Amino acid sequence: MAGSGKTNRGLERERRTVAAMIRIYCRDRHRTRGELCAECRRLHDYAMGRLDRCPFGEDKPTCAQCPVHCYQPALRERIREVMRYAGPRMLWRHPWLAICHLLEGRKPAPSSVPRKRQVASSEADRSE
Ligand SMILES: [Zn+2]
Repeated sequence: MAGSGKTNRGLERERRTVAAMIRIYCRDRHRTRGELCAECRRLHDYAMGRLDRCPFGEDKPTCAQCPVHCYQPALRERIREVMRYAGPRMLWRHPWLAICHLLEGRKPAPSSVPRKRQVASSEADRSE
């Protein structure tokens, strides 16, 4: 990281968190080892690019809470799926990152209105 004089700790952590989540997701869902599949690599690169451009910089909320939805809808759906899958699993592999992520995600109290669960046309969701 040469060039940039400022360090964004929050941003850096978010970056690592997102990267770790995509890795977990890809490994479990796509049976990859060490390397991301092409699809997940694209998502990863895209997410990193978005973080670079995040207007909040240091004060960035976690993406889940972010009021600026800077992701393309399709990729946004995918990253949400990744986070939903990998989020709980992060506790095992990267407890510190996961806890930071959870704490930050808690900052703003969301309205108590339960959001209707989105049902994709054919959601093959295993009951957990
Ligand atoms: Zn993958």
